[in-house]
Amino acid sequence: MTYWNAQIECMDRETLSQVQLEGLQATLNRVYKNVRHYRKLFRGIDFMPEDLTSLDMLQQLPLLTRRDLSRNYPYDMFAVPLREVVRLHTTAFNFEQPVVIGFTANDMANWAELTARNLAGIGVTREDVVQIALTFGIMSGPFGIQLGAEVIGASVIPISAGKLREQVKIMRDFKTSVLISTPTVALGLIIAMEELDMDPHGLTLKYGVFGAEPWGEKTRQEIESRLFISASDTYGLTEVFGPGVAWECPAKKGLHIAEDHFIAEVIDPATGEVLPPGEEGELVITTIGKEAFPLIRFRTGDLTRMDRTPCSCGRTHCRISRIFKRCDDVLVVRGTSVTPDQIGRILARVSGEEPRFQMVVDREENRDQLMVAIEATDTYFFDEMKKQRRFVEHLHREISEFMGWEVNIRLVEPGTFDPYQKVVDNRRFE
Ligand SMILES: [Zn+2]
Repeated sequence: MTYWNAQIECMDRETLSQVQLEGLQATLNRVYKNVRHYRKLFRGIDFMPEDLTSLDMLQQLPLLTRRDLSRNYPYDMFAVPLREVVRLHTTAFNFEQPVVIGFTANDMANWAELTARNLAGIGVTREDVVQIALTFGIMSGPFGIQLGAEVIGASVIPISAGKLREQVKIMRDFKTSVLISTPTVALGLIIAMEELDMDPHGLTLKYGVFGAEPWGEKTRQEIESRLFISASDTYGLTEVFGPGVAWECPAKKGLHIAEDHFIAEVIDPATGEVLPPGEEGELVITTIGKEAFPLIRFRTGDLTRMDRTPCSCGRTHCRISRIFKRCDDVLVVRGTSVTPDQIGRILARVSGEEPRFQMVVDREENRDQLMVAIEATDTYFFDEMKKQRRFVEHLHREISEFMGWEVNIRLVEPGTFDPYQKVVDNRRFE
């Protein structure tokens, strides 16, 4: 069993709780002093940071939502002056309700430590060649992995996503041993290999770390058996660094949360009440080491179960179950987040008013497909075929551009779907 930082990853629970309490107290003090949003919240409930003397008391503080973050666009949630920020990322490339996340130099070093623990935990060493097939851009994902792999001393190929045929040639010629991507890209690489008549046995791949979209055991089996690798899940979100929040150890029985940096709670999304281990609810994260962009009780929108039982790997940090669902209306399709509101606004812009529509996600041949069904009405002159076709083409272009890949658009008769059900997700992960 390999650990990157055994002292911390296997720390006894008592010491870990003390580390968390001290980190939490320091973070609360800093946000109270430097972030107006938190100061206002705390004053509203008559709470002073020095009042917190035990970890349980965290439950008394208000929850934080994505909306709170985007309301403070761009820099009002920062707890340090901009001159101390060395990196900026945003949560989405389409820039709808954006959230800007800053990193200090210390934040970058901590991020590298966390992703290094993730990679070292599955067996990555300085002998490895790590191909990062995630899109390098304004979102943080691939950068965190790159930092961790470089800290380990592995050789990094920051190839980004796309150009799958080129990727498999590089994979073969550069002797890639670790693949980092979304599961969708991994499956795309398998197809590209088949098209090139390339035998995966000829590759030097050993491990794969996959994330940024929901994927289940069936997909894991498919990737493992066809690429001859061990595939593991990783979880993170840009608001909280990106990758490096929680990851699977070789036991593959849930994802360990890095508890020396984060305090995780699982709440009932309807009442906000903290749930006992084993019950499914919304993951809430408090950061206790971040300098530039600390978060206090941030609602992730992701549904999971907390597991505080000991793990066979020896790590003492708690585990969360793999994440397949969300409790809000955000859909994660091929690594892209989208809400019905966003699609509704595009439809309204193109057609002049928001029609009734439904978003349907399916997994066909291991690839997510998004279809937007729109109820046809007389308003759109649908008696004229040519106008109708142009309308559909226009929508197809706009929505596909928004998502970054091809989306199907279908006009349907009124009454075809329940107009109150904006999202139908037919994917099965478990
Ligand atoms: Zn473990």
